[in-house]
Amino acid sequence: MEDRSILVRDVDIWNEKGFTRSSILIEKGRIKRIARRINDDAVETINGSGLKALPGLIDVHVHLRDMGLAYKEDFATGTAAAAAGGFTTVLDMPNTIPPTDSASRLIEKQKVASHKTYVNVGFHAAAVSDSHEIDALAAAGAFSLKLYLPKPIAPFDVENDEAIEKLMRAAARVNTPVTVHAEDLSATENTSLRDGFEELAEARSPISETRAVDRLLTIQKKARCKVHYCHLTLRSSLARVSLSGRSTSEVTPHHLLLSKKLLSGLGWKAWMVPPLRSEETRRSLLRSTVTGLASVIASDHAPHTITEKDQSASKSPPGVPGLETTFPLMLTMVNRQQMSLSVLVKLLCQNPARIFGLKSKAQLRKGADGDLVLVDMKKESRIDSSKFFSKAKFSPFDGFKTKGAVHTTVAGGRVVYRDGEIVAREGSGAVLQRGFSG
Ligand SMILES: [Zn+2]
Repeated sequence: MEDRSILVRDVDIWNEKGFTRSSILIEKGRIKRIARRINDDAVETINGSGLKALPGLIDVHVHLRDMGLAYKEDFATGTAAAAAGGFTTVLDMPNTIPPTDSASRLIEKQKVASHKTYVNVGFHAAAVSDSHEIDALAAAGAFSLKLYLPKPIAPFDVENDEAIEKLMRAAARVNTPVTVHAEDLSATENTSLRDGFEELAEARSPISETRAVDRLLTIQKKARCKVHYCHLTLRSSLARVSLSGRSTSEVTPHHLLLSKKLLSGLGWKAWMVPPLRSEETRRSLLRSTVTGLASVIASDHAPHTITEKDQSASKSPPGVPGLETTFPLMLTMVNRQQMSLSVLVKLLCQNPARIFGLKSKAQLRKGADGDLVLVDMKKESRIDSSKFFSKAKFSPFDGFKTKGAVHTTVAGGRVVYRDGEIVAREGSGAVLQRGFSG
């Protein structure tokens, strides 16, 4: 690592309750000092006046694609999008080509990523049934084992409770969480004659989520394993998960802010799974999230090409990009006093770090990692997907007005993004392994 230092002068630093005007010196990737006045011949000085400093954001659920799917997104474009969105750490999902279903494939992915990323990247692995492979994946630094109930990523008998219990016991033994896509589609009847997005959303009803969450919570209790429930859409799911030990929940900006009535107009641009819910369900999810019932907000950044997306509902791959819209949308809520900044920091920094064992992240204090985001709370903007760093240049949020924007993103002690531009070198980001780094 080259010797470098950054001094951010006269910035309002988040102190868990509010802001304190101070200066931050970052050296060799870590926060060296925080004090009102720091005089140092730093290589790079940033005038922070008028800006707020928050810990770098952590997105625990992104699909960076790359390798066989690099035409949709690659580690460079995906992590450039992350930096532009204020995220200094992202955890990538394993449903790639090839899938991340063995230690050797995980190591290969880490190697490819190490030459291309702009921010810190860690990897989830697929849930596999071989306990030796689970040990090997944990040893190689997998952040979780992802169980995708509707369509397993690696061969896995998802119908079999005992197979899931065995997976959870093996994961608990190596202290690795299981992440789940909790939708049980076994009883879904596809009776609709129309191949439409609304019909498809109707078929994947809230009951699919309730059924899956209940089932997994019961198995989890026996296995005593940590389980992170991805992209929950119902208040009742958040409540159930919060009452159960070792369980954490995740919500996405699209389920918080959009409802299914938009599907008739937006179609493929608003198609993801789980699908958008009714306005009433959305409102209750949002209310419970802002009052602290959810553990994490994640983007579920899921890029596809427009050609792939713009097809009939049954052919259109689910997923929307989210790395560049999540934070401006949430800052807008803070500005409108619909969410407190302390809840936002919990959901986008502190809880993600705690759940996934990123010990020296999500803190602005001496010795912590030099990951931070400088925010201009007053800057007004409009979401424009044509300007995304992501290859996926579409968004269900296109045209949304926002207030509050990322000014500068510092990851690993390097300025990665400033004022609309990526200023770091490709490959300057770090690859993280659970249990070894972070
Ligand atoms: Zn996902």
